[in-house]
Amino acid sequence: MANAHAERARSCSGVQLRPFPYPYRCMLAICSDLDGTPHRRAYLEIARFLNTEEMTPMGSGVGLEVGNSIHFRAKTRRFAYWSTDDAGREMVRMLIRSGHIDCLHSFGERIHTRDEAKRAVDELRRHDCHLEVWVDHGGAVTNFGPDIMRGHGDEIGHPAYHADATVDYGIQYVCLGRGTSIMGQDIPAKLRGILTLRHPIASGRTLLKEVAKQSLARIGNTKYAMHASNRVLRPSVLRDGQRIYEFMRCNPHWAGVGSYAEGRYIGNVLTADRLQRLVTRGGTCILYTHLGRVDDPAVPFDAKAVGAFRHLAEESRAGKILVATTRRLLGYRRAVCELVSTSWRDGNVVCIDLNTQRSDNNWLGPLDVADLAGVTFYVADAHATCLTVNGEKVRGIRRNPPDHTGRPSVSLPWPRLEFPAI
Ligand SMILES: [Zn+2]
Repeated sequence: MANAHAERARSCSGVQLRPFPYPYRCMLAICSDLDGTPHRRAYLEIARFLNTEEMTPMGSGVGLEVGNSIHFRAKTRRFAYWSTDDAGREMVRMLIRSGHIDCLHSFGERIHTRDEAKRAVDELRRHDCHLEVWVDHGGAVTNFGPDIMRGHGDEIGHPAYHADATVDYGIQYVCLGRGTSIMGQDIPAKLRGILTLRHPIASGRTLLKEVAKQSLARIGNTKYAMHASNRVLRPSVLRDGQRIYEFMRCNPHWAGVGSYAEGRYIGNVLTADRLQRLVTRGGTCILYTHLGRVDDPAVPFDAKAVGAFRHLAEESRAGKILVATTRRLLGYRRAVCELVSTSWRDGNVVCIDLNTQRSDNNWLGPLDVADLAGVTFYVADAHATCLTVNGEKVRGIRRNPPDHTGRPSVSLPWPRLEFPAI
């Protein structure tokens, strides 16, 4: 037995974890803050255009997978959970259950107290609506971010303290307002692509800001530590001591992280050359934007935006860019970082077992098996490989032909989210 165990603990030669699900070469989530969305009809048309191939005011949908965020009470007459009507609330609940609303964008500008926050969490729980991603929102007192977002949601004793209830509800991935101009994370930080000769002063300023963030991080500044490593995700601790994962978003526009992050400008941000750069470098990108900030609520995206999304859909269908919701991208990236796998030879077959219970970097406990979706291993012979998860055979294993590197692989399926009939 001891020998058998020693044999299993070794990794077979030729077995290697692929960074992205086959056949994709990079991964992109469009992480949209809902503030500014005029009403539920605009919110729904944006979701239908991006996630289905149905007819919409912008023409037929592009059939990607793009999530959205929700909060509970906005400052002005804008779309939010408590401010919309019953049909709007039912729409939100359906989209949370289907995975197309995956982020809580703070509780909103006009939620100030712990009791109000808990009422919102109770409402979600009561309707079986689970969210695991939190994104701080400019000016919200319920924010978690201590530096950029100046929140108080995780300060024990503050009237807005709610982190105990919110983390208990299920929030585990948190954006504390950190953003970068570098297109592509989980690869070395490269500044090329920011400077634009047609806009030398503004893009030069953006470049210098990014250089400053990198330099400050290298001399120990904690505010910008994520920028130096250029990691999309890192283990972190809220001020009340609770463990979470923090993630960083990206806006690669030459005018800077805070500029042009709106639906009316998305065609200027999601350009073909930036997408190509993401593909070539093999990066992971969580794109910061506000898709609901548009000029015409009846036709949310203009021709340039529609063209950009159609191009993104082509790149996705060509197997280059995997477009996923923020929650799915984060779960996948966490899984590939933490997963423990063992492989061994059994006659002519190579067996690979993925263990979600064991982990060298088990910050939040065992991995969710659902987050292994798409996990891909390069192998010598895809037809002579067996794949198990916690010792159980994987149903529907994919045996993939050689990709752009010339190597065959095996994968767990990456199921598509199903858009609900609303
Ligand atoms: Zn916001």
